[in-house]
Formats: sequence, structure tokens, C-alpha cells
Amino acid sequence: MELIYFDNNATTMVDKRVIEAMHPYFAQKYGNPSSIYDLGAEAGKALKASRAVITEFLGAKDPKEIIFNSCASEGANTVIKGVLELDKARKHLITTRVEHPCVMTVHQELEKKGYKVSYVDVDYNGDLDVKQLESLVTPETALVSVMWANNETGAIYPVEQIARIVKEKSPTTKVFVDAVQIAGKRQLNVKDTDIDFLVISGHKFHAPKGVGVLYIKSGNILKPLIEGGHQERGKRAGTENVPYIAGIARAAELAMENIVEENTKVKALRDRLEEGILKNVFNASLNSKSRERMCNTTNIGFEYIEGELILLHLNDLGICASSGSACTSGSLEPSHVLKAMGTPFTCLHGSIRLSLSRYNTEQEVDYVIKHLPEVIDKIAGISPFQKELAELRKNR
Ligand code: PLP
Repeated sequence: MELIYFDNNATTMVDKRVIEAMHPYFAQKYGNPSSIYDLGAEAGKALKASRAVITEFLGAKDPKEIIFNSCASEGANTVIKGVLELDKARKHLITTRVEHPCVMTVHQELEKKGYKVSYVDVDYNGDLDVKQLESLVTPETALVSVMWANNETGAIYPVEQIARIVKEKSPTTKVFVDAVQIAGKRQLNVKDTDIDFLVISGHKFHAPKGVGVLYIKSGNILKPLIEGGHQERGKRAGTENVPYIAGIARAAELAMENIVEENTKVKALRDRLEEGILKNVFNASLNSKSRERMCNTTNIGFEYIEGELILLHLNDLGICASSGSACTSGSLEPSHVLKAMGTPFTCLHGSIRLSLSRYNTEQEVDYVIKHLPEVIDKIAGISPFQKELAELRKNR
């Protein structure tokens, strides 16, 4: 069996059709899109066409709302810091306990500078306490930041409803959505929502790393994070990365082409994988059965064993998976998402995330279902928790 890649929430393989679409803009149509001569105009044309595609991808109203940048982390920093720069009077922010570090860390830093941050809780399934969020919004709240889908559990949050609630309680409070994981998994329609700002990242849906999009709903202003030239309507300085922008637009087109069929196929594979593991591994349980879950993600806890060890054994079998988010793996700190969910300590260190894409197959799923029980048995054999593991096997 060749490499089996089940870590698509960390990053995805670039689609060959995306590489093809990028190719002309490296050494043929390499002009600066702001230049007046034909070579520049060709790049400018690609930029305009890409912006139109992304407008459709997000369901935005106007291509002017689309700002190209380098990644979602840049977009999140731009929004959170940019809103506060122009709203010096308000010092209260709301976010959730399960955000990606690119949102969480910025809030933690703001707290050190004297801002008050309220963190919304999630339940044991990873579902957000929307009522609590509602109770926290006041006219003093400058910004509410909520992810559309969680990268670790796949839990989907009702951001459209949340945005509406926020505006009802405080019309001038801004709403920011990290849509990194949902992009490409369902058709978005931001124009019909109260979302003010939103970010996506190309490398999560088969475009390369290093290109992202910041959506700014018409009527909103932001202080740019990167100042300089007048690119991107003065909202993000720096010569546009035309090949990568052509790439993210092509990836968006491909995602839109078969969005329902592809995601139905991915969900069937994910369900087969999840059911197979839960049935065949004696100490496995699902960490998140959230109300609504991304079709490609499963997060499974294996009691009394170490998640990193599972990953190393899977790697030996050519299987790529993750424990927690890519950004936190490498540290032995358990995932802040699972901790926020109150995942029992017996699973907290022994959880892995498997995330699929359009490239996965049934054979790959079956290979994992066949080999994972052997891996778990091997690790269980050297665990210091022999009594507890024996008990689990008995009660299975
Ligand atoms: N938000 C979520 C939910 C993510 O999963 C990630 C990447 O892991 C990011 C933001 C950051 O994206 P980028 O790598 O484009 O900065």
C-alpha cells in the first residue's frame, strides 16, 4: 500500500489541475498586475478573474469584498487587530474556547494588554453554547470571533445564527468567522448573513500553502495589518502573488463543480472508517458526536494509551494522521479543544484525528481498519495501565 493521507485538516495535496492553472503565471505571464503594459495586464486579468471566482465561492455580493493575502493566520490577525485599531473605545471581545491558535493566541495577547475577553464554552460533544454567547454580547463588545467548523473535531457551528443574534443585541459589534475548514465542504452564501469578516486558506482545499482570502463585507473598514502599496484596494499591501491566486481560484472552481457528490463520497468513507475502528478496537470511542459535523473528520479516543505512539506506528505503516491540530502536535500538551470539551483524562492523551479528502479510497479505509487494531494491541501491551486495559477488554 502506498502512502495513505488522512490528515487533510492539516493540509491537502495540491490538485494537479491547480498546478496547471498556476503554471503560466511563473515564467510566461509573470508581469506585475499593477503594470500598464500587456504583460502586466495579463496578470491583472487573471487577478480579476480569480476574484470573481472567489466571490462566487464565498457567495459574496461584490468582488471588491475579496482581499487576497498569504494565509488565514494573516487574515485573522488583520481582522482582530484591525477592528480594534479603529474602535479604540470598546475593550470587550468574545471568542470560543476551541478556536485555532491564530485566533486564540491573538486574544490571549490582547488580554495581556488590558482587553477583556469572554470565552464561550463547548459541551462534551464540542458543540458551542450559543445561549451563553448571546448573554455575553453587550454594546461594549467590539468583536465576536467564531470558527465555522472546528479543525480537530469537525464540529460545525451555527455562525449565521450567531451573527444574527450578535447584531440584534448590538448592531455595531463586528462578527468575524474563521471559515478555513468549511471552505470547499459546502457552498457558502455570506451575502445573506450578518458576517462582517471571514477568512479562508487555500491549502485546506487543494491549493498551495501561502495563499488565503480575507472577506470584508461592504460597508466595513479595517486598518490594514500590512501597510505599503495600494494593492488590494489599500487593504493589504504587497504585490499580489498571481500564480498562487490563480491556484486558489482554480481550487475553488474544482470544489464548487462537484461539491455535493464529492462530499457525499467523503462522508461515506469517513463513516466506514469510523464505524470500522469503533467496532474493531476494544478501547476506542468517538470524541465528538456534535449536532452537525464536517463530512471528512473523525476524532477518536483510545483509552489508556499515548496518541503520539499511535501516530508513530501508523507512520511506519505509511498512514498519516494527527493528534490535535498540526500546529500543536509536537508538543505533549493535550489538545485545548478536547480539554474544553471535558474529554476524560483516560482519552485526552490517546486521541487521534483522521481527516479525509476527495483523493481517499475505500481500500485505504479498509487498510486502516485492518491494521489499527494490531497497532493498538501492540501499544496496549507496553502500557502501564494493564489492569484498566484488561477491564476494558472484558467489558467490551
Ligand atoms: N483556522 C483553522 C480552523 C485552521 O485549521 C487553520 C490551519 O490549520 C488555520 C486557521 C490557519 O490557517 P493558515 O495555515 O492558512 O494560516
